[in-house]
Amino acid sequence: MSLVDRKLFGPGPSNPYPEATAALAQPLLGHLDPAFLELMDETCDMLRTVWGTTNARTLPLSATGSAGMEASFVNTVHPGDVVVVAVNGLFGQRMCDVAARCGAEVVPVEHAWGTPVDAQRVLDAHPSPAIIAAVHAETSTGVRSDIAALGAGKGDALLVTDAVTSIGGIELRADEWGVDVAYAGTQKCLGVAPGLAPFTINDRAFERRVEKPQSWYLDLGLLGGYVGEASASKGQRTYHHTAPTAMVASLHAGLGRILGEGLENVWARHEEAGALLQAGLQDLGLELFAQEGARLPELTSVRVPEGVDSAKVRAQLLERHGIEIGAGVGEFAASVWRIGLMGHNARPDAALLVLAALEEALAQG
Ligand SMILES: *Cc1c(COP(=O)(O)O)cnc(C)c1O
Repeated sequence: MSLVDRKLFGPGPSNPYPEATAALAQPLLGHLDPAFLELMDETCDMLRTVWGTTNARTLPLSATGSAGMEASFVNTVHPGDVVVVAVNGLFGQRMCDVAARCGAEVVPVEHAWGTPVDAQRVLDAHPSPAIIAAVHAETSTGVRSDIAALGAGKGDALLVTDAVTSIGGIELRADEWGVDVAYAGTQKCLGVAPGLAPFTINDRAFERRVEKPQSWYLDLGLLGGYVGEASASKGQRTYHHTAPTAMVASLHAGLGRILGEGLENVWARHEEAGALLQAGLQDLGLELFAQEGARLPELTSVRVPEGVDSAKVRAQLLERHGIEIGAGVGEFAASVWRIGLMGHNARPDAALLVLAALEEALAQG
């Protein structure tokens, strides 16, 4: 019996962001209202938990994930610093571009797309880099890389990690893994609208920072007062920029949902939904793109079968079922699909729904 025949369409997760969008509909708080400052403190505390860090300097930057990338490099790259970047997809490439604009001597370590970062090759790429940078969850290919292995071998270098698609989705332990600087986004597994970049930096990296980075807005030396420097101590606030209060309230709500469910339960839910989807895709005769053993559960990449029009199938899923799946990136634009099961969508019913819809679309050619 096909999945379609089993009538598994059900209600489906019609709003994958319920708590976070409800928070956006609340009356706006002023950015210096004590109620907002408390909300910000709690948000920073919850972020420490999802990062797996005790870093005092943990805050939501007021811009998207890419601003987290910018903040990471603009604050840590001194002119001429060697920055080794593991590249196994689009976001590793972007890191090279951003680091180079900050004046780094970038040493890219290229990997075939669909494969995980080879930690030893990255560690051997230069004898004494100032910074080693890698993407934990490469959204462009659906690949997970071993950040702990980089942390264990980094020596004196700082380890910068992109956790945009891993935070709140798969195991992430910044402190335990030796991560010095890391950034994320809200709209992937955290299940919050796009617009903030959860960010964390430890003392070791902060002490080595660029004193007057080119970016005023992302200067971490100035941003301390914005969250009352080590906000856990509820220190004095100094005006830096107006906090996007609605967005912070939304993040607060989304994080509350995750911690209410339990972070490890949330990770397990993502693993389970991804495994179900990936097994189902293989049952349909499709070939997964990411290397076995390194597949992200929250972002599944799968090859478009020979002779199938990728765009037509994607349009049908969207129009008939309200399911949006991604095209591939770069040279894989027409030959790979990327299916996200993130946040609220990381559930068996969503996995089965997308499988059924895809089977239907493929049957119709
Ligand atoms: C989405 C994403 C980014 C960029 O985040 P934006 O919010 O789009 O700026 C960076 N890195 C990875 C791995 C991503 O998936």
